Amino acid sequence: MKATIYYRGSLTSCNYDCPYCPFSKNKDSAATLAKDKEQLLRFIAWVREQELAGHELYIFFNPYGEGLIHRWYREGMAALSHMPHVRKVVIQTNLSANVNWTDTLHREKAAFWVTYHPGQCKEEAFVAQCTELYKQGISFSVGTVGVRSAFEAIASIRRRLPQDVYVWVNAFKDVPDYYTVEEAEELRRLDPLFDLNRADYDSLGKRCMAGEDVFYVLGSGRVKRCYKDRAVIGDLYRDGLEGLSKQRLCRMKQCGCYIGYKHMPELAMADWYGDGLLERVPTQYASIAHKLDGQAAREQEEQRWKTHPASRD
Ligand code: SF4
Ligand code: SF4
Repeated sequence: MKATIYYRGSLTSCNYDCPYCPFSKNKDSAATLAKDKEQLLRFIAWVREQELAGHELYIFFNPYGEGLIHRWYREGMAALSHMPHVRKVVIQTNLSANVNWTDTLHREKAAFWVTYHPGQCKEEAFVAQCTELYKQGISFSVGTVGVRSAFEAIASIRRRLPQDVYVWVNAFKDVPDYYTVEEAEELRRLDPLFDLNRADYDSLGKRCMAGEDVFYVLGSGRVKRCYKDRAVIGDLYRDGLEGLSKQRLCRMKQCGCYIGYKHMPELAMADWYGDGLLERVPTQYASIAHKLDGQAAREQEEQRWKTHPASRD
């Protein structure tokens, strides 16, 4: 069976201090961190065993907080990326941690969903981190929430990153009709797929692959249907994928988050994102970098980077 697994352990801490986030500057106790590590190691061991069962897995880490500042997430990602039956491993990250370990990843199978927090890091430093990933030929997307105060920062980061790095803008939906026509147009220029995210999709009673071949796994092994429907549908370690999988209709009125609605078959999001569906890289942005191989190719990429118009401002 081909399955997508979202994984979230016990971690609830971050090195950033975003004012809108409950995990900002939160410090986990040593016991919580040890538990998070133990849970992740158990999950990785379970993934390893799935090769024998013939499963093909797509894995997405979406921790509450920042995972990559902890060694077990970096090593875990690297280990998973090299497992033959793991097709993709992605992590949601603020990309603040040193990226000097990323050469341990299988660069055709590891990817990053990078969230940019303009108030928390210097643009220069953030661009440098992205540049390192780009040079490694690792697929990644960069994005942020499209609140008015962030417009300038988003436009600036769009100018600085290579054109084949996709910059997404999550629509701010807390205030109805938040955007003027002109603002929506401006965001569309930065992210041509902005309107896909701006919509809240009617989902009640519709088919969704969440709970069928997409599972939201917690560190304890409990499995939820999706990011929004909190109903527990089983236990990964007790039930296995076959035991969890069932065709299910959505019980929520609407679905407005990319990590949810992209699993609704009727929206055919794969037509836009292709192989980059998990890390949110649309087909037309798929970097040529990860298709290259060897030192010569890296040098070629560095040269391309140096001469790229975006690096000259
Ligand atoms: S980087 Fe993410 S997890 Fe960390 S404080 Fe900001 S929003 Fe929260
Ligand atoms: S459509 Fe969205 S809310 Fe409904 S089950 Fe799927 S992911 Fe969950």
